[in-house]
Amino acid sequence: MPKQDLILLALNPSPILDLMQRALRAAGYEVAVAHDLSSLNKSVQEAIPALMIVGERFSDQDGFIVSSEMLERFPTLPIIFYADKDTTGFAKSVLRHGLSGYIYPPLQMSDIVDEVQKSLTRAGKLGDWLRREVKRTTSSLAEKANISEAERVKLEAIISNIQDGVVVMDESQRVLLINRATREIFNLGDKEFTGKALSDVITNADMAALLSRSSEGPLKYHEINFDDGRVFNAQYTPIPKIGAAVTMQDISYLKELDRLKSDFIHTVSHDLRSPLTAVLGYTELVERTGPLNENQLEFLRRLQGSVQHITNLINDLLDLGRLEAGFDTRREMIQLDGVLKYTLDMFDSQIKTKPIDLSLDISENILPLRANPIRIRQMLDNLVGNAIKYTPSGGHILVSINMQDKQVVLKVQDTGPGISPDEQNRVFEKFYRATNAPDGVLGSGLGLAIVKSIVDSHQGRVWVESTLGKGSTFVVLLPSQE
Ligand code: ATP
Ligand code: MG
Repeated sequence: MPKQDLILLALNPSPILDLMQRALRAAGYEVAVAHDLSSLNKSVQEAIPALMIVGERFSDQDGFIVSSEMLERFPTLPIIFYADKDTTGFAKSVLRHGLSGYIYPPLQMSDIVDEVQKSLTRAGKLGDWLRREVKRTTSSLAEKANISEAERVKLEAIISNIQDGVVVMDESQRVLLINRATREIFNLGDKEFTGKALSDVITNADMAALLSRSSEGPLKYHEINFDDGRVFNAQYTPIPKIGAAVTMQDISYLKELDRLKSDFIHTVSHDLRSPLTAVLGYTELVERTGPLNENQLEFLRRLQGSVQHITNLINDLLDLGRLEAGFDTRREMIQLDGVLKYTLDMFDSQIKTKPIDLSLDISENILPLRANPIRIRQMLDNLVGNAIKYTPSGGHILVSINMQDKQVVLKVQDTGPGISPDEQNRVFEKFYRATNAPDGVLGSGLGLAIVKSIVDSHQGRVWVESTLGKGSTFVVLLPSQE
């Protein structure tokens, strides 16, 4: 309703001011006049005008400055600039300051009213457009918020119905989401846990260990054991900008299968050992029963060699069985470099006859380990033995021991055939023999499985770094004891 629009005139008293008042009132506008800055401020505080006309000079102020200040406060307010006479400089400044019109004498009443109406129409359109845009943006925001709320509900439904346990937490390990499977696994009931520290919600020791190790590096698997025999494989995955998730799969049946298989191997190997000892004993006795010819002696030696080989294999299997069953509990303070000497003594003649160049690099500050010396010796025998076995004559082996943080690091490096990347993990499996091994190199594929069990039972880690054709480095980390 333009007729009720308030027009504020910020002009010094003059005949033109009177003319404007008369013209605008006659056209039906409400008109207010300000003669100085304080009355101007008072006017706009009482009612924001629909339009302002500002004089070139207003109460000793530059009209452009007054206009700019008004536009700072009311960016969509249309302002018409009145100059005493026309100059191109004014027109430019009007544009530069973003004012909406410019009038100057000679002026007739209709000129004033026309200019005011034009500016008001333009401002009205701008206002309409602004309102439409604001509405459009808010409604599209509201739509987005709706969608993400719907998505969130959907996601929550999916996660809560997943068979595996899922817990999502924020960066300080406080629960954001806990699914039904997790509640069942830990018997948590229906309580609300959002915002609570996960370590307070789930007090299982294995879970605590997983959470505390999560900051250490890229490890992310951990077994969670329960007294009733259930075992879960938990995986910790960091989620950028959210925190992390722990997922848990029930692997009780796999563990049970593994146990049955180990029990079977253990029983069979145990039962085989006694008859083998008898076979070996009798082959030794045969020699004493009377003179044997060359051929008979040779056959007996081969027989003894084979029986010895099977006996070694069975001893390895029994060892593995004992290690895996956790019977290896003997612990003493030992120096890894000290045990290494015995291993090297044992292989001395083999190294010389092949020949292989073996060098040592042992730091001075090696801390002791709390370990079973027999097992540690077995581990070293297998690693050094493999290096000698698989490295062709003329090759090099480097055995190094040093400290890294509080861990003793053993490296057995060779210039042998190397192991392809896809087989590097598999060589630690029972009976696995890689395809690279030179023809005629015998073995049962149990050595590294024993090494891994020994390292695991000492809370250490073992892996191999290798390049086909260049050589392999077996690395063992064992926690030291200060
Ligand atoms: P044994 O039970 O007598 O030790 P093995 O030496 O074949 O038999 P592992 O010691 O378990 O068994 O080793 C598994 C496989 O890993 C080997 O068959 C071989 O292919 C590969 N391997 C182990 N050590 C090396 C090495 N230093 N260089 C290259 N390949 C190796
Ligand atoms: Mg071996």
